[in-house]
Amino acid sequence: MRVYISADMEGATGVCHRDHLMAGGQDYEAARRWLTGDINAAVEGALAAGATDIVVADGHATMRNVLLDQLHEAARLLQGPAQPSNREFGQLAALEHDRFDAAFLIGHHTRAGTEGGLLAHTWVGSLVREIRLQGEPASESRLNAAIWGHFGIPVALATGADDYCREVRDELGADLTVVAVKQALGTSAVITLTPPRAQALIREAAAASLRSLRAPLDVGTPVRVEIDFWRDDMRARAATLGGEPIGRTTLTFEGDDLPAVFRSVWAALAQALRDDPSFLR
Ligand SMILES: [Zn+2]
Repeated sequence: MRVYISADMEGATGVCHRDHLMAGGQDYEAARRWLTGDINAAVEGALAAGATDIVVADGHATMRNVLLDQLHEAARLLQGPAQPSNREFGQLAALEHDRFDAAFLIGHHTRAGTEGGLLAHTWVGSLVREIRLQGEPASESRLNAAIWGHFGIPVALATGADDYCREVRDELGADLTVVAVKQALGTSAVITLTPPRAQALIREAAAASLRSLRAPLDVGTPVRVEIDFWRDDMRARAATLGGEPIGRTTLTFEGDDLPAVFRSVWAALAQALRDDPSFLR
């Protein structure tokens, strides 16, 4: 059995503040250990359930947060920034070349627009007010699940704060195994478990989640993704690569080829980010 892990940082044990999320911030190095510990627990659970190959995709910011020296030796690590040329779906990549049996979402978070959501955003918080998939607001987790689903890979496990666990079950189904490693108290405070306690829960849940797999997410066709940007100049930059502008700040992508639609979405976001004057952020 092969398991694909998408790892983000906002939902890792202990993480509650933007300092935890950025190199140079207070306790960022500690947050990297907490994140790596959560991932290792998921890897250990997967191994206990019979996994033979596990790929971890570091999907946060620079995408170089997971501590390789501390990562479980059974895992392989996908790291490096999400240029459309090397990580075509942003947090995910290489799915067409590698087939997996199940996916885990470790350390993920609520979507842009979730009221009071802990560190909530969708992919690029400075650009995106909301992303909708098939007309419904979608988190990074649902977007990733749609990509995995296209390749026949079901999401088995999701971990993060309790607000995220509620939202991701809402988006992906009440039968999804979740582990709340902390309780969200608004946008930047938590009551968190300690790493050993959180890891024990993740280890057990990861193993259990693989013993009876859920169905992959099928969003149907045509696939339609709508991006609401914060400002019209952001939309204008993104639209230079295609998409259909709607209203003043929305750009939509639609088609029957799901990977092609998602490739376009990520390329558009990367394009809008590339030329964003920093003084306007
Ligand atoms: Zn992140």
